[in-house]
Amino acid sequence: HNAKEQGVEIRRYIPAMQMKAKERLKLENDLRRALERDEFYLVYQPQVLLETEEIVGMEALLRWNHPKRGLVSPVDFIPIAEESGLIVPIGEWVLKTACQQNKTWQNAGYQPICVSINLSMRQFLQPNLAGKIDAILKDIGLDPSYVDLEITESMTLDKETAFDQLNRLKRLGVCISIDDFGTGYSSLHYLKNMPIDRLKIDRSFVSDVMEDSNNAAIVSTITSMAHHLKLKVTAEGVENKEQLHFLRQQHCHEAQGYLFSKPVKAAEFELSFLKPLLEMPS
Ligand code: C2E
Ligand code: MG
Ligand code: MG
Ligand code: MG
Repeated sequence: HNAKEQGVEIRRYIPAMQMKAKERLKLENDLRRALERDEFYLVYQPQVLLETEEIVGMEALLRWNHPKRGLVSPVDFIPIAEESGLIVPIGEWVLKTACQQNKTWQNAGYQPICVSINLSMRQFLQPNLAGKIDAILKDIGLDPSYVDLEITESMTLDKETAFDQLNRLKRLGVCISIDDFGTGYSSLHYLKNMPIDRLKIDRSFVSDVMEDSNNAAIVSTITSMAHHLKLKVTAEGVENKEQLHFLRQQHCHEAQGYLFSKPVKAAEFELSFLKPLLEMPS
C-alpha cells in the first residue's frame, strides 16, 4: 500500500464506521420499544424423528417486524439486544410466548411435542434464570418435559457457572441442548460431565456433507460420540434427500431444516404439522 491508497482507505473507512455505530444506536433505540409496540412474533420449525418421520419437536425462532425496515433478521438484532441487555426482557417474552403456545396446543387436544427455545449468553448468566423459568412454567401449567433450552458451547466456557446453572435448570425437568455444536470450544471432558441431553450439529457441517468428506467425517463422528455419551443428536439445516439419507445411515436421531419446512407462523404450524391425539381404545 502506498500512502495515497491508505488515505483513500481511511477516508472511506471512518464514515462507514460512524454510520455503522449510528445505525446500531438507532436499531437499539427501536429495539427498546419493540416489545411494548408488539413488533415481535415467533415462528416455529419442525424437528423430525428420522426413524418414523414423526414431528416430535419444534424450535421457536424470534422475528422482529420493524415498522420501517420490515423484517429484521435475528442475526442482526440479537447481538444488539445482547450487548444492550435488552435480550433479558425480550428473552423472557420468548420463553413465555413459546411455552404458552405449546400449552394452548396441548389444551386443544394435539399430540404433545417439545418446544426448543434459544437462550442467549446474558440470559444464561442470570443467577435467577431457573426460578424465572419455573415461575413461567407453573403459571402456564406446562409440563417441563415439553421444554428444551438451547445453549451454545461458548456459554459453557466458565465451567463452574455453567455447571451450576445447568444443574438448576435440569432440576426443573427441562431438556438442555447444545446448539451449533462443533463450532465452539467444548472440551470432551466438559461434555462428558455436563448435564445436557442433546447435541445439535451445526448447519455448516450438514450443508455440504455430500460434497465435503471432511464434513461427512465430522457429522459421523459427532453422531457416534453422542450415541456413546447417551445424548440425543439432531442435525440442523437439512435441505435435501441426500443429506437425510446420509444422516439416517449414521443413525442420527432427529433432523431440522428446509427439507421438512422453513420456520412458519403458529397458525401454519398447527395446520401443517400438529396431529390430534388419537382416542385410546377402551
Ligand atoms: P439457531 O438457533 O441455530 O437457529 C437455526 C437457524 O437456521 C434459524 O435461523 C433457521 O431459520 C435456520 N435454518 C433452519 N433450517 C435451515 C436450512 O435448512 N437451511 C438454512 N440455510 N437455514 C436453516 P434464524 O431464524 O434466522 O435464526 C438465527 C439465529 O438467531 C438462531 O440460530 C439463534 O442463534 C438466534 N435466535 C433466533 N431466535 C432467537 C431467540 O428467541 N433467542 C435467542 N437468544 N436467539 C435467537
Ligand atoms: Mg437454535
Ligand atoms: Mg443458535
Ligand atoms: Mg443452530
